[in-house]
Amino acid sequence: MPTTEVAAAPEPPRDCPICPRLVAYRAANRAEHPDWFNGPAPSFGDPDARLLVVGLAPGRTGANRTGRPFTGDFAGVLLYETLIKTGFAAGRYEARPDDGLRLIDCMITNAVRCAPPGNKPETAEEAHCRPFLAARIAALPRLRVIVTLGEVARRNVLKALGLKASASPAGHGVARHAGPYRLINSYHCSRLNTNTGRLTPAMFEAVFETAKATLR
Ligand code: SF4
Repeated sequence: MPTTEVAAAPEPPRDCPICPRLVAYRAANRAEHPDWFNGPAPSFGDPDARLLVVGLAPGRTGANRTGRPFTGDFAGVLLYETLIKTGFAAGRYEARPDDGLRLIDCMITNAVRCAPPGNKPETAEEAHCRPFLAARIAALPRLRVIVTLGEVARRNVLKALGLKASASPAGHGVARHAGPYRLINSYHCSRLNTNTGRLTPAMFEAVFETAKATLR
């Protein structure tokens, strides 16, 4: 499947068979934890969103367990608290999909929809899943700003838009036009990045303040 082809649907089927390694990992997780979600994590948020946040892939015990992006793992705490603080979410984040948290003018998705072993998707898996990302972007009629969390998200958004990965430079806080959208890079809100101080809550909040200012 060409990487820039828009898939028929913006959300993959629950038993998407395209990536053998991830399908096998899904099956192993289902066998070990049949009560977990164990499928491609669906995008979450406002279908009329002007802001799309793109992460890497579901964490095994995060979205792969709960079925909602960034829900149940460390990265979700900073992401959802920051979205609430900057007005892109309302309610309380309680690390479960039925916590009532609502996204405002915002949707969250992942570049790769199935949990990869070690949180590391292979290049071919990124390419296989990219048509779903392209379709997700295309299905948001009011979309204006895309925040990418980490390098894998940045690279795949650019490619999903039919651009080269070099079309917009890497680096936290870098904002450029990408096709009809404003692309804003952020370091990923992972435990590693926050524990080492590479990404501080203030740095992360500034990204979403930039997004908000862009949408005014
Ligand atoms: S990662 Fe994407 S393309 Fe691969 S099996 Fe999962 S949903 Fe399908």
